[in-house]
Amino acid sequence: MLELRQLEKRYATGDLALKGVSLRVEAGEVLGLIGPSGAGKSTLIRCVNRLVEPSAGQIIFDGQDITQLNAAGLRRVRRQIGMIFQEYALVERLSVMENLLSGRLGYTGFWASWLRRFADDDVAQAYSLLDRVGLSGMENKRADALSGGQRQRVGIARALMQSPKLLLVDEPTASLDPKTSRQIMRLILELCQERGLAAIVNIHDVVLATEFLPRIVGLRAGSIVYDGSAAGLDHAVLTNIYGDEDWTAITQRMQATARGLTDHDDRAARDRAFVAAA
Ligand code: ADP
Repeated sequence: MLELRQLEKRYATGDLALKGVSLRVEAGEVLGLIGPSGAGKSTLIRCVNRLVEPSAGQIIFDGQDITQLNAAGLRRVRRQIGMIFQEYALVERLSVMENLLSGRLGYTGFWASWLRRFADDDVAQAYSLLDRVGLSGMENKRADALSGGQRQRVGIARALMQSPKLLLVDEPTASLDPKTSRQIMRLILELCQERGLAAIVNIHDVVLATEFLPRIVGLRAGSIVYDGSAAGLDHAVLTNIYGDEDWTAITQRMQATARGLTDHDDRAARDRAFVAAA
């Protein structure tokens, strides 16, 4: 459903952020994009919906090249691509419901949206999504009155308002505590499964990535250096992606997680597993 062909991005500063990236994502496939800061992860996902203009290469989405679309074509395609942001990108002084309905702006005519008149169907869908993400009864709260986890739930529901086929997810948990991070990752993954959505999840936490995402793509200095299973991320692969580090602690956490010790309340069992794996 999505194919990047030799995608390149050179910023006006001269930085070559993507150096000919090729990648296929099948319908319903969810992958994690990992790599050190500056590797090009956020450039890559922003090129897919042309929030960042690629310098060269093709982005084939459902058979059409996104890089060649005019403004109207791009608007149509963007309706099928939802985005979830690290800092949520909510309108702080608007209510949860208003933030959700703004996810339908691509569908609602300018004057209707200006007057904030939305179709009853959209309002019904918003209520149903709020319920699904665990925010029922919160529709009239202002976004700035919510916790980080609740804001991200609004961000997720808003991205789903446009019934996308593909989700671009940029560091969804980077501003959240570890427990909330896991809840948010689980919610995103469940929603992708329920709705058959493909997703590219840009995520810096390797352990969280391997716990939730079966396919991992490793980016280093603008090039893909790994594309394979989460289980295949061993010392050599991690060193190739991130450079020389002592990966022992990370790989032990990954092994403990793989054995099912994922509950934060079960810290002692986790500790025992780390010691046993040493
Ligand atoms: P990551 O998301 O993996 O941290 P980025 O995509 O943000 O990586 O950045 C990749 C490279 O592109 C870095 O060298 C960064 O400095 C550069 N870069 C990112 N955004 C811009 C920009 N708006 N202008 C110029 N250079 C940028």
